[in-house]
Amino acid sequence: MTGKVYPWHQFTWSKLQGARTDGRLPHALLFSGDEGCGHETLMQSLVKSFLCLMPVDDAEGQACGTCRSCQVFESGAHPDYKMIAAPADKQVISVDQIRGLNHFLELSRSYSPSRVVLIHEAGRMNINAANSLLKSLEEPSADTHILLFSSRASTLLPTIRSRCQQIRLPLPSSEQALAWLHAQSLTQDAELLLNLAGGKPMQALALDSGELIAARKLWQQQLLAVINRDKSIAEVGSEWAKQSKEQLLDWQLNTLHHALRYSLAGAVVPEEPETLALYEAASGRNVWALYDELLEMKGLATHPLNNQLFAENMLSLWLKS
Ligand SMILES: [Zn+2]
Repeated sequence: MTGKVYPWHQFTWSKLQGARTDGRLPHALLFSGDEGCGHETLMQSLVKSFLCLMPVDDAEGQACGTCRSCQVFESGAHPDYKMIAAPADKQVISVDQIRGLNHFLELSRSYSPSRVVLIHEAGRMNINAANSLLKSLEEPSADTHILLFSSRASTLLPTIRSRCQQIRLPLPSSEQALAWLHAQSLTQDAELLLNLAGGKPMQALALDSGELIAARKLWQQQLLAVINRDKSIAEVGSEWAKQSKEQLLDWQLNTLHHALRYSLAGAVVPEEPETLALYEAASGRNVWALYDELLEMKGLATHPLNNQLFAENMLSLWLKS
């Protein structure tokens, strides 16, 4: 069984699947909701469910994940599915894209009981594109699901809106959002992040990882400064002493793990210069010994030790091995 349904989408999911079972699901559905709430995941799960040959009754119509159609979908080239979105460099869905879609809807089906179309951020259709879509919305071919998603549905032409069943996707409750965030191994306080993100859990997570990426980059620069003897162990140690020991160790172990793979032929060269420099630095060292010693330190990381001393011990391992 595949397809994820977040708790805050469960009500919508059940309603839609109920309508589908009863044969009263409209062919065109216009979903609207804020960005950063995982609505794309709901869309994706619906698409999979509509394409599946054996949706699982016990799981409210979720895609089985094993039938021929599900397998073809996973390959990324399902002939009965078409996704339309604005090209990243244009920000507009063009009339040509919608014409291609209209043509697709005239084709016969291959694998699935239905033909499924998803128009992501439908508000980005220009006026010609929107007008071109009207015909398909007015005279739908049989067994067709047209799903539109827009984070700004009010910008859509009224003629488009009136031809779709409109479904407003809710923000999660703060309990639901916090429960989800707590399962994401955050580096910062979940409640604080959720507040900053205006109650949108995926946006809260992005905020956290954005900070995390910056922190990791700084960590790399500090370690390189010690390796290259630009800074002393005590100097960087006092910075590291303020941070989570586990996090610092995870980063180092992860770097060594990837440095080992990098040293093998055919490995992908990392994009960030700091990462590459650390791989190169590691390859001139006894990586296994360093890895083992850091792993041993990880076993001690939860003990109440002197942070400065612990940080300096970690750094000195890089100089001696
Ligand atoms: Zn299936």
